[in-house]
Amino acid sequence: MRDGDTDPRRRVPRTDLLLADPALAAAAATLGRDRVKAAVVAAQERARRGEIGPEAVRDAAVAALPPPAPRAVLNATGVVLHTNLGRAALSRAAVDALLAAAGHTDVELDLATGRRARRGRDTMAALAAAVPAAGGVHVVNNGAAALVLAATALAAGREIVVSRGELVEIGDGFRLPDLLASTGARLREVGTTNRTTLADYAAAVGPDTGFVLKVHPSNFRVTGFTSAVGVRELATLGVPVVADIGSGLLAPDPLLPDEPDAATTLRAGAHLVTASGDKLLGGPQAGLLLGAADLVERLRRHPLARALRVDKLTLAALAATLHRPDTPTRSALHADPGVLRRRVERLRDRLGVDGRKAEVVPSVAVVGGGGAPGVELDSWALSLPERYATPLRTGETPVLGRVVRGRLLLDLRCVPPEADDTVRAAVLAVPVEGD
Ligand SMILES: *Cc1c(COP(=O)(O)O)cnc(C)c1O
Repeated sequence: MRDGDTDPRRRVPRTDLLLADPALAAAAATLGRDRVKAAVVAAQERARRGEIGPEAVRDAAVAALPPPAPRAVLNATGVVLHTNLGRAALSRAAVDALLAAAGHTDVELDLATGRRARRGRDTMAALAAAVPAAGGVHVVNNGAAALVLAATALAAGREIVVSRGELVEIGDGFRLPDLLASTGARLREVGTTNRTTLADYAAAVGPDTGFVLKVHPSNFRVTGFTSAVGVRELATLGVPVVADIGSGLLAPDPLLPDEPDAATTLRAGAHLVTASGDKLLGGPQAGLLLGAADLVERLRRHPLARALRVDKLTLAALAATLHRPDTPTRSALHADPGVLRRRVERLRDRLGVDGRKAEVVPSVAVVGGGGAPGVELDSWALSLPERYATPLRTGETPVLGRVVRGRLLLDLRCVPPEADDTVRAAVLAVPVEGD
C-alpha cells in the first residue's frame, strides 16, 4: 500500500486489518471467525476483479454478513417456554400470516366501505370467538402492558387490593408491585405470604378500591400451610376483580390441571382477565385483555392504550394462532415420550455411523417461566460429552442443550422433528477429539 501506487488491485486492504475493524471483529465474536473471514475474502476478490474500489471492501464485507438480528436457534433445553429464547416459537400459519402482513394491509381499513375501521378487528373477532365468556377483548404489547393499562385506567389514584402472596417478580428484576405502583395506583396488601383469607380482602375493600387483583403464581409454588382465595369468592366483594392468569390458556388443558384459563376464570366471576400471548397460547408476544364489555371499552379508549398498541405483524400472527391453535408450543407440550425416544435413538444410531459416541437418556422437560411450575414432562435426550456445549451453542445453527453432571443433554421435546438432521449436522461440525 505505497502512496502513489495507482493500480487499485494492489491497494486492496489486508485481511488482518479488515478483521480488526470493530464491526467485523464484533461479527466474528458471534458468527465465528471463519464466516467473517469468508466475507472479507469475497469482498477482496471483488476489488481485485475491479468490481468495487479498494475503499469499499470493508463495507462490502459488512454487507455480506447476515444482518445484526436475533439468530434462530434450536431449543434442546427441554424448557418449552424459555424467555431467553423468545418464549413461544410461532406456528407455520402464524409465520405465513406475518409475512403476508408485512407490506400494506387493511389493518385499520374496511375494504367494503373504504372507511377507517377498528384496528385489528379480525384478530379481536377471533379472540372473542375463542372466549365467548368475554364481553369485550383488547390486545396490547405484553402481559405487563395489559396489567399497566388496567391499573392506570381503573385504579390510578386509588387502591389495588392484592394478597402479599401474589406480589411476584416476573423476571430480570421486574416486580409486579413496582409495575403497578408506577401507574399511580396504591397497593393495598392483604394477608401474608402463605395465607390470605376472604376476610382479609373484605376488611381492605372500601370506597377507594379500584379493583381486587388476583395474580396466578406462574413461576413458583407455595406449598405446605397455605390458603388463598379464589376468583369465585373474590367476585362476591362487590368491586371489580382483575385476574392476571399469566399463561394465556384460553380454555382448560387436561395436561395442565393447575393452570387457570380465561374462560373458566371469567365464568367464575372475574371482571377482567389479563394474559400473555407468547406463553401457553403459543403465539406472538402480546397482552390479552378479556372481560366485561364496559371495562374493556374503558381500557381501549384510555390515552395510554395508544402507547401500548400492537403492531400489524403481531395482530396477524395472533389471528393465525387463534385460527389454527396447533402451535409448536402445543406439540412440544403434548409430544409422546415414546416417539421422542425413537427420534433420539435414531439420532444416536446415525451419529454412531459417523463415529460419534452418544447415549440415549431419559430427561425431564418443563413448561418454563411461562407457567405450570410444578409440571414435569417425561422426555428423552441425546447425551454427549460436555465439551460439545460451547461449539454447539456458537455454531452456524446454534443448538442449546443443558449440562448435567459433566454431560450435555439435548432434549428433543422442543426441537421440531424436521430439525433432527440439523442437530446431527451441528454435532458432526464439532471437531472430533477422543470422545
Ligand atoms: C408472564 C407473566 C406476566 C408478564 O407477562 P409478559 O407477557 O411477560 O409481559 C405477568 N403476570 C404473570 C402471572 C405472568 O405469568
